[in-house]
Amino acid sequence: MPTSPVFAAEHTVATVCPLDCPDSCSLDVTVQEGKVVAIDGSHANPVTGGYICAKVRRFGERLYGTDRLLFPAIRKGPKGLGQFTRASWDDALALIAERMLEARAQWGGESILPYSYGGSNGLLTQDTSDATLFRRLGTSRLARTVCAAPTGAANMGLYGKMPSVAYEDFPDARLIVLWGANPSASGIHIVPYVREAQRRGARLVVIDPRTTPLAKEADVHLAVRPGTDLPVALAIHRYLFEEGHADHAFLDAHARGVEQLRERARPWTVARAAAEAGIQADQLQSFAELYAATSPALIRCGWGQERNRNGGSASAAILALPTVAGKFGVRGGGYTMSNSATWGIAKTWIGSAEPNTRIINMNHLGRALERDDPPVKVLFIYNSNAGVTSPDQRRIFKGLERDDLFTVVFDQVMTDTARFADVVLPATTFLEGYDIARGYGAISLRLAKPVVEPVGEARPNADVFGDLLERVGAQHADDPRGELEEMLDVLARLPEPIADGLREHGVAAPPHGGRPIQFQDVWPLTADRKVDLFPDALDAEAPAGLYGYQADPATAEFPLALITPAGERSINSTLAELARPDVRLQMHPSDADARGLEDGNPVRLFNALGEVRCRVTVGTWMRPGTVSLPKGLWRRHTMNGYTANALAPDTLTDLGGGACFNDARVQVERVPDA
Ligand code: SF4
Repeated sequence: MPTSPVFAAEHTVATVCPLDCPDSCSLDVTVQEGKVVAIDGSHANPVTGGYICAKVRRFGERLYGTDRLLFPAIRKGPKGLGQFTRASWDDALALIAERMLEARAQWGGESILPYSYGGSNGLLTQDTSDATLFRRLGTSRLARTVCAAPTGAANMGLYGKMPSVAYEDFPDARLIVLWGANPSASGIHIVPYVREAQRRGARLVVIDPRTTPLAKEADVHLAVRPGTDLPVALAIHRYLFEEGHADHAFLDAHARGVEQLRERARPWTVARAAAEAGIQADQLQSFAELYAATSPALIRCGWGQERNRNGGSASAAILALPTVAGKFGVRGGGYTMSNSATWGIAKTWIGSAEPNTRIINMNHLGRALERDDPPVKVLFIYNSNAGVTSPDQRRIFKGLERDDLFTVVFDQVMTDTARFADVVLPATTFLEGYDIARGYGAISLRLAKPVVEPVGEARPNADVFGDLLERVGAQHADDPRGELEEMLDVLARLPEPIADGLREHGVAAPPHGGRPIQFQDVWPLTADRKVDLFPDALDAEAPAGLYGYQADPATAEFPLALITPAGERSINSTLAELARPDVRLQMHPSDADARGLEDGNPVRLFNALGEVRCRVTVGTWMRPGTVSLPKGLWRRHTMNGYTANALAPDTLTDLGGGACFNDARVQVERVPDA
């Protein structure tokens, strides 16, 4: 009889990484005596080329580390201190079911708020039995907008989320524009394709407030002030339209809303946009000329430009550039952003229709916990470390301290959020269960298999939400029971060729051979297959109209723009628990000099929302007037237990209701050494 890979003494198991990263690496995981001892990349996914990030190499430390949740537990001390008593699954789930039913009976289903994001980004860990449970209970609905909502709204409005250029086609580009993206820290597998393009003579433009590793090698680096990507993009449109470089033949055949976009771009001369963005006008002019003159030209549109009040319009203006300049129809030309819609997967497996209950924007968690229409009485957090990943952190922690709030946190480790829970439940990781990993950069869909047995008493989402369905009396006879049935149910509801590939080979064949040429193989998924450069719905949604610029929120009191880009140590807040507690605020020497600061000084950065204490690192890789802390920090990483999100307003982006993390404006001053 063959030995099960889970129980063999020493072996390698092939699986895939489903975490919230564009790349979806195929993995070889080495297991000895039932424990993960090494994680490496494999060549099964040719795009990820046999190597992985340093973050996931350390995933074994999350599996077996001191922060891992091993059994359910019930709070015994004050909220926030993380003091718990071990409980059985039976007792913990009985208590949760009782409290949800009580809240629904007394306050209505909307008094229950499920809160989740892409903690594990696979198709099985979210929007399966969890969604079935909460729909049947008639809970509040969550708008999952903390990331990619503005870019998603723009991409949907203009192109209906047309599939975008594959990583493998980057080397065919003669010009690559990295806009709001730092692939050296996240989505790392783009880097070799960019380098290959450069070896073949391609020019590189990077638009980022920081001198990222690829910005150092760029032909043009525009270190724009955060929130000014919109005027920069509009100035290029103006140049294209007014200097005779717009592709009118392409626009006539394939686009709508051309004149409205041209009208909105008209005020933005290169000089005016450059002044607003704090960059040299001749640099912006060079970029506009380079873009107009070069083909194939490819824009990799990231997410950095979306996290501010102008983020939706900025993303739309960036995505509109290849249409106005006529850059489609050739390999290596067009744009790349999220490819999650490429597979055409609808989540038909959720076992109930969506109720018409209130929608709470996840960026307003702190506010939501103050509402009384009805109040949130049960907060069920899973796949998310909400306390450190959402804006206006102090308000969230205050809400989580409410005595009358019953909070459940279902997670893999004792997060900062879990410390506030009334009940914590231990979740399996992607190495301990099944999942289906869909890359949203690399065009890849693969099956993740259990590599080791669950640690402690950890259970998969499908098992736990299925159990709760039964306990609240909402289970139907044909609901899948447990993770394996859930996976088989999802497979049965996927388009047949995709499901067959996953079942037979653990991988689905990508549409268009995985390398679609825009406007040759794939077309806008709008009703008339045209690009809508000025969707009426987006114009109505944006406070200043589509492509309308909202001024910088800086004041004399709080003049510095604080940004929180993805770092090399964590995937959002996942795995940040393993990072050294030596976080530093990054600052330009001119800003440091103006405040009498030197490298290594302890500082407080503050605004009206709160303050963060840490040390400062001074360097010219930051643009003047902008400071930076990494995204996803835990409370242990700063001197006072607050992270950058304590300074981030909970205002929303112009489109999509996204988070305005990069609209935090702060002041920085030295504090005495602790
Ligand atoms: S986080 Fe991204 S780069 Fe790292 S292993 Fe997962 S898919 Fe690959």
